[in-house]
Amino acid sequence: MTQTVLVFLDRALPGGRIEDASKPQLFATDLGATRGDGVFETLLVLDGHVRKLPAHLSRMQHSARVLELDVPGHEAWERAIVTALDEYQRVVGPLTEVVVKLVATRGVEGSGEATCWVAASAPAPAAKRQREEGIDVLLLDRGYDSDLGERAPWLLLGAKTLSYAVNMAALRYAHSHGADDVIFTSSDGQVLEGPTSTVLLAHAEKDDAGRVTLKRLVTPRLDSGILPGTSQGALFAAAKEAGWELGYGPLVPDDLFDADAVWLISSVRLLTPVNHLDGKPIGSDPSLAKALTEELAALFDRIP
Ligand code: PLP
Repeated sequence: MTQTVLVFLDRALPGGRIEDASKPQLFATDLGATRGDGVFETLLVLDGHVRKLPAHLSRMQHSARVLELDVPGHEAWERAIVTALDEYQRVVGPLTEVVVKLVATRGVEGSGEATCWVAASAPAPAAKRQREEGIDVLLLDRGYDSDLGERAPWLLLGAKTLSYAVNMAALRYAHSHGADDVIFTSSDGQVLEGPTSTVLLAHAEKDDAGRVTLKRLVTPRLDSGILPGTSQGALFAAAKEAGWELGYGPLVPDDLFDADAVWLISSVRLLTPVNHLDGKPIGSDPSLAKALTEELAALFDRIP
């Protein structure tokens, strides 16, 4: 089992309370456990640096507001993260690559107080291999139309809630059908997101000498009931500076098949190329796809 460092946020202890992750720590009546009622964030620490911390903390506050859940402010989380990383360094090893999860549940039933903790552990080894080799993906219907988020705020679309059982079921379905991951589509045929990632595609134009003259990076509409990715936001900012054109859907599956490259991206997996979608290859020029991946990966590496 991977070793996990656990720090609970605690009003009485500004830096949080270190607990033993191998022992039970939650009440069985915690609404996070019984109803999946809560929010979370997953961050990556590289060489001791917590990447995109302000973006993750802001998104967590946004998710909590959507759930009408009262959670501690940025500083309490920042202090608990410092405690967790100090402890990780002491008991597990160097902070070369660490996954940090922030969780806030609605708390023990009747208490009216959120249960909040930070967990630090090593990343799953599959992520690195998938980044290098690429993945095969299935398109799966999520059953919602792309405007439902606006009409039905109680569905919490676009908030990062603890209710990920459906996302995990979609991944299991893909695995049992020979694929590595999933891209959800809406009932009105739009490309949405992966169960734990944002979809990106790129088009490039070449001149007669084979030089790339235009690079366009596109992601689905952010208001289509998907989670706005902190990686997508940061990568778009970096790509814009590097001269890429940017676009935001609406996208349909044919746009993915017509792209020169498609990726799934997230804070932990970083930039993972999609090789096949529903069994069909993506991109007609593998050397162009590779060049685009290398260029974007280099931009991704520079994101603070
Ligand atoms: N979409 C979903 C549903 C996710 O769960 C995630 C990350 O876990 C993402 C997108 C990517 O978000 P980020 O880039 O902030 O990690």
